[in-house]
Amino acid sequence: MQDLLQVLQCPGCLAIVEKSDNIFETTILNNNCHVNKCTICGLVYKGQFPTSCGLDKIYSAEYTHFNDGGEWKKNHYYYSAKQKLDRCKKMLNSKASNKSIRILDVGCGSGNFVSVARDLGYDAYGIDPHLPSHCQKPYLENKNLDEISTSSFNIVVLLNVAEHLVSPREFFMEVYRILANDGIVLLTCPYGNSLARKFYQKKWNHLLLDEHLLFWTPKSLSIMFSEIGFKGGKNFRIAGTPFPWGRVQDVEVQKTDVKHLNILKGVSPGSKSNFRTYITRVAQYIQSHEKTANFVRCLVHYTASGDYLEYVIAKNK
Ligand SMILES: [Zn+2]
Repeated sequence: MQDLLQVLQCPGCLAIVEKSDNIFETTILNNNCHVNKCTICGLVYKGQFPTSCGLDKIYSAEYTHFNDGGEWKKNHYYYSAKQKLDRCKKMLNSKASNKSIRILDVGCGSGNFVSVARDLGYDAYGIDPHLPSHCQKPYLENKNLDEISTSSFNIVVLLNVAEHLVSPREFFMEVYRILANDGIVLLTCPYGNSLARKFYQKKWNHLLLDEHLLFWTPKSLSIMFSEIGFKGGKNFRIAGTPFPWGRVQDVEVQKTDVKHLNILKGVSPGSKSNFRTYITRVAQYIQSHEKTANFVRCLVHYTASGDYLEYVIAKNK
């Protein structure tokens, strides 16, 4: 069986592929492939999608989604997850206690987000169709969306899921079904109209991954969600991952950049492999200081200079 199939419609708005511009070339599973941008909704998507056979090759046992990020990650992750939950609760406009708010993290990975939500008192659960047995708990299950009851959650969370979907409309129709009437969806994904995507093109770290197929914008998400039936308010933020302006491989660190910061101890300049370590450490430094991090986040959002999108939409109000 072949690994790839030609995409014939925009996966977001279903416009025929002729309504999309071919913006540059990339590869997927070692095959050349167009990157398209829909002129109707603005979605950026790969011109070939993996079949079930291709998906099996992509999501092998070594898929890093289930690795724990270590202590530093937990600390910065806690604040970032808490802020996301605060924004969701505000949007729910509910005076209900956290314990009566039911949250489902779909594609929960190792369950870090669910752990933070449970620590904060929410009634939170996670599902993941690839969840290995060592990650399973009573509230983290190896399940698909179609096994979840109708109208059973107030918040559905999709962190780094929307860029992987082969059939996004079918998927989000299921999300609509499991949401309570007052429910909201929170999703995060690489930002399809980012400076990083335009500048780095096929070298953009999100595009290099075979499993990343779709690069959403607020407009493309809004069009798809309204066609599915979502009628409520929406909100979005542009963020960075982990540094505001995106990442690319194979760039050298300059000697002058690394001299004065203790956080860079152990990073030797002038080496390609150290560039990502350098950027990651600067990002960690910023993220570990909440006020500085919030300032940088506002700056990134208002200048739309980040390469990551956080999008929230309510089902009904
Ligand atoms: Zn479209």
